[in-house]
Amino acid sequence: MSNDTSPLPSLDSLLRTPEAGLLLQRFGRHATTEALRTELAIRRAARIVHPAARALIDAAADALARRFSTSQRPVFNLTGTVLHTNLGRALLPPEAAAAAAEALRTATTLEFGLATGRRGDRDEHVTPLLRELTGAEAATVVNNNAAAVLLVLNTLAVGRQVVVSRGELIEIGGSFRIPDIMACSGAALSEVGTTNRTHPRDYQAAIGPDTGLLMRVHPSNYVISGFTAVVPTETLARIAHEAGLTLVEDLGSGSLVDLKRFGLPHEPTPRESLTAGADIVTFSGDKLLGGPQAGLIVGNKSLIDRINANPMKRALRLDKARLAGLEHVLRLYLDPDRLAERLPVLRLLTRPEPEIRAGAERIAPFLRQAFPGRPVSVEACRSQIGSGALPVDLLPSAAVTIGGSALENLASTLRSLRWPVIGRIVQGRLWLDCRCLEPDDEAAFIAQLPGSG
Ligand SMILES: *Cc1c(COP(=O)(O)O)cnc(C)c1O
Repeated sequence: MSNDTSPLPSLDSLLRTPEAGLLLQRFGRHATTEALRTELAIRRAARIVHPAARALIDAAADALARRFSTSQRPVFNLTGTVLHTNLGRALLPPEAAAAAAEALRTATTLEFGLATGRRGDRDEHVTPLLRELTGAEAATVVNNNAAAVLLVLNTLAVGRQVVVSRGELIEIGGSFRIPDIMACSGAALSEVGTTNRTHPRDYQAAIGPDTGLLMRVHPSNYVISGFTAVVPTETLARIAHEAGLTLVEDLGSGSLVDLKRFGLPHEPTPRESLTAGADIVTFSGDKLLGGPQAGLIVGNKSLIDRINANPMKRALRLDKARLAGLEHVLRLYLDPDRLAERLPVLRLLTRPEPEIRAGAERIAPFLRQAFPGRPVSVEACRSQIGSGALPVDLLPSAAVTIGGSALENLASTLRSLRWPVIGRIVQGRLWLDCRCLEPDDEAAFIAQLPGSG
């Protein structure tokens, strides 16, 4: 053995150190041994002479901590988009989240009638509420709104044509595209009209023996303005019904209440669509509704019965945790007067600008201290609702902005905090929109900043 290959410490001797003892306690024998073995192999391959046992164990500890830390973690959403799909969309009320967690921990009445002692229907926990809140004859629920659209088309129009306006062939972020979902469902898309103008006669001319249904899709994330023409739901329903066809409307966000009541721009409600004559309406549970991810389908009872009888329904059904969370959120709608306090989505969307600004002013000095040399100021900005709701309506808000060079490094530093902070870089500054930083979370936000001890 030559001098430059001094023996590495043995795995056994490393495992006997008190430092490794702590790792064994925390991560278990298997993972700890593996991590130490890997670190030894790295040093052997690099021909490192006399590696310090302590440094080697520290490296193994870092690797173990990374391996055992969860990948999905809470973050501060300071992007200015309240319903941010990449950051998990709607925040549930704590009681709804607790109900979901409890359902996961315990046996529940998921499909069991306590009165009868017999098997029940899992959807019954939420469908009576959905009927009441939308005025629909019947309702059903699935995994998400994409699944709702897929299931509706597959049940009601497989092998048939579905007539949709060219102005509504939308793509939602994350690869939901109407033509693709249509193809998946086994229905054939029949495009009518033009991008900016579609008329009643376009729909009428497209209806033939192969037509399965008429569909309207809420253009969630864009607007067509200028020289435009859209056929109102009432007219479209009349055209469909005169031809003995069904009208399906995909509302996307679909608020359960008139948002005008809360000083927000109006977003179409399922009740309005049904009143206007749509036979089936689909919308998301985790957009403006403020619940867990879910796809809600409401409308005509005989159509909903057919949808529930489709074997695909079983593949797309909701689990007990989300049903528990959804049930809790829907019950909050029974008391609309207190909805804006209790439903986080609505509370965040209705926060007054001065209140958001006050929060920004409170945290700005701490950011100034954490990033000395960078200009920090509080600026007016505009938040987005997000997730395809009201794409052009922006809400007045306030942000802490941080300037200077290498903003990507700054953004990366903020993302690497214990509770990562996500902002956005615009116009040479990093913007931290404070709409979604509520006063209760400010202390935690401040405490983790660099230099806060
Ligand atoms: C968001 C949206 C969808 C997809 O809903 P998910 O719940 O994300 O599956 C479908 N259609 C429209 C119009 C939407 O806005």
